[in-house]
Amino acid sequence: MAKIQFKQKCTKCKTNYVLTNKRQPIVICYDCQKDELQGEINDPYVKKILDIPEEFYKENSFLRNIKINYLKYGTISEKQIAAFRKTVEEMSSNK
Ligand SMILES: [Zn+2]
Repeated sequence: MAKIQFKQKCTKCKTNYVLTNKRQPIVICYDCQKDELQGEINDPYVKKILDIPEEFYKENSFLRNIKINYLKYGTISEKQIAAFRKTVEEMSSNK
């Protein structure tokens, strides 16, 4: 099944384009989210899951949002973990 991807301009800097698989009212590019992606992950289980190549975070706003949400709120659901893993798997096999 082919995936449809949209190119949307970053809501914040209005310069960079962000690839998303569905239209969203707000999309933020990697450059604008860079600072938010920094942080200490204390849970070794989550740390291992989120420990993926940085380029994956650059390419995929969904992965960025999962990590940022975790850093902000300190929680991640099993559903999010499953979706995260699936996305990483798909991206790995597309290389
Ligand atoms: Zn931006």
